[in-house]
Amino acid sequence: MIPEFLELVRRCNGNIVALTGAGISADSGIPTFRGKDGLWNKYRPEELATPQAFAKNPRLVWEWYAWRMEKVFSARPNPAHLALAIMERRGLLKAVITQNVDNLHERAGSRNVIHLHGRIDEMRCLGCGRIVKVAEPPKVVPPVCECGEMMRPNVVWFGEALPERELELAMSLCEENSVLVIGTSAVVYPAAYLPHHAKRNGNMVIEINPDVTPVTDIADLSVRERAGKFFEPLLPILEEEGFP
Ligand code: NAD
Ligand code: ZN
Repeated sequence: MIPEFLELVRRCNGNIVALTGAGISADSGIPTFRGKDGLWNKYRPEELATPQAFAKNPRLVWEWYAWRMEKVFSARPNPAHLALAIMERRGLLKAVITQNVDNLHERAGSRNVIHLHGRIDEMRCLGCGRIVKVAEPPKVVPPVCECGEMMRPNVVWFGEALPERELELAMSLCEENSVLVIGTSAVVYPAAYLPHHAKRNGNMVIEINPDVTPVTDIADLSVRERAGKFFEPLLPILEEEGFP
């Protein structure tokens, strides 16, 4: 699969964006949502990741987010995150569009990262709207803003709209570029629509996922493998002067 992958990357000539989901961070030890080790098998999303849940029990929601923050902050980028950062630096990739709220793309060195579902390393004030960056989970939950109001995680919850500017940017990137879809179950809309949007506009779709997904049918190349494992031997090749 490696030669086929490299050939497609060559053919795209820099006109590629990545679309990533929880699966790209699975090899960094961050649990996915769906699947056999997914978070939703242990917790009920409607109890934790909705505005209603937060209004009802902010402390419980915050405890869960503090736990996930801890996991994200102690995790390290894996070869898949690193490969995308190398590709961007070498002009082979324009942007990473991610559904992940973790910061592993940035920590791997990616610069142009579009967060469709917000970020777990930020919190937002329900009163004044101030966004505060965090480097460790809050010691007291729920955290309170300087203005006296409660802070919430700056992530998109079920039932909430995606940030408009990010979604527009993602749509327009998928009109003009091929898409490398890594580790997403491709069932959460509107993000799941992006590969189809790319395909309809005459672009290629490449998928890396150990499981079959709705994207598999439309993919020009679908690699059934864990992202970290697939990209590990690719790192020195992508770094090579001679490539592409
Ligand atoms: P998902 O949990 O629905 O799907 C995960 C996908 O990754 C599955 O298709 C699975 O087969 C695949 N996968 C599992 N291990 C993999 C690996 N090692 N390499 C490649 N693929 C692998 O995740 P999703 O599609 O991103 O769902 C969207 C929602 O999940 C978003 O709202 C997102 O915010 C949230 N989420 C984010 C994180 C994170 O930030 N790291 C973690 C869990 C969930
Ligand atoms: Zn405030």
